[in-house]
Amino acid sequence: MTVIIYTHSACLAHDMGAGHPERPERLKAVQAALDRPEFAGLPRHEAPRASKEQICRVHPEAYYEAIEEVAPTEGLVQLDGDTAMSPGSFEAALRAAGAVCAAVDAVMDGSASRAFCAVRPPGHHAEPKRPMGFCIFNNIAIGALHARAQHGIRRIAVVDFDVHHGNGTQAAFWADPELMYVSTHQSPLYPGSGAVDERGSGNIVNVPLPPAADSVAFRHAFERGVLPVLDEFAPELVMISAGFDAHARDPLAQLELQTEDYHWATAELVRIALRHAGGRIVSTLEGGYDLTALTESTTAHLSALTA
Ligand code: ZN
Repeated sequence: MTVIIYTHSACLAHDMGAGHPERPERLKAVQAALDRPEFAGLPRHEAPRASKEQICRVHPEAYYEAIEEVAPTEGLVQLDGDTAMSPGSFEAALRAAGAVCAAVDAVMDGSASRAFCAVRPPGHHAEPKRPMGFCIFNNIAIGALHARAQHGIRRIAVVDFDVHHGNGTQAAFWADPELMYVSTHQSPLYPGSGAVDERGSGNIVNVPLPPAADSVAFRHAFERGVLPVLDEFAPELVMISAGFDAHARDPLAQLELQTEDYHWATAELVRIALRHAGGRIVSTLEGGYDLTALTESTTAHLSALTA
């Protein structure tokens, strides 16, 4: 199965300062997975920059311009308590969002069945009008709206198994019943949203898990709370917010997932995509802060995507 990889060296030049967990070494850990021999044959492409038009399907123009305006030429600019821009950040953010749009184009025009975007900054906390939680532009929401605008498909599902709730994607999709957002996440945990009763227009499905929930609890919740609603929605495109910070080794959260859980969950999503979406999946990196877990989990995720 052809899986196209999109990445860009510019994503290594976004640097929020010494000691920040969302650091360039994360992308190197993901690249270590991509460099494994079993993935040597996967086509790789440089991520293009997202256009302002693509980004502004999710974010107001005033937001885009404010981010462009504050981007520093030296030093760091704080966007919120834990999100900053360095001189390389704006370019990285454009490439991250552009990767997802290009990945959508590749699976929609049939050049590949699935695609994985190895990019940072992540996106799922970025709300239409607010940068947040290491995120500047909401890459996956931008990709979803690009799929609809450019390729005319209607029902798009984003599945988010990052340990944090993707408040930004939820906010972007809230009033749009043709865009489904389904999230498993630890609760309580940052950013505090993601309760079961946050339903949007019936298109938002939150599956919170308590701290210390393990593989069994995760798989049970995924089987009960995620897969049936996806089957019922019958998406024409499946998109994955692939954060690997629910792994037991991750320092920022307290779930106890194992590496094999990412293979299992991805394989289940491949089945959903084959049933409804012609097999089409676009996956993009979100969180994951233990470098060993990140390499192993990305390997597991890719091996299921390529199966
Ligand atoms: Zn996360």
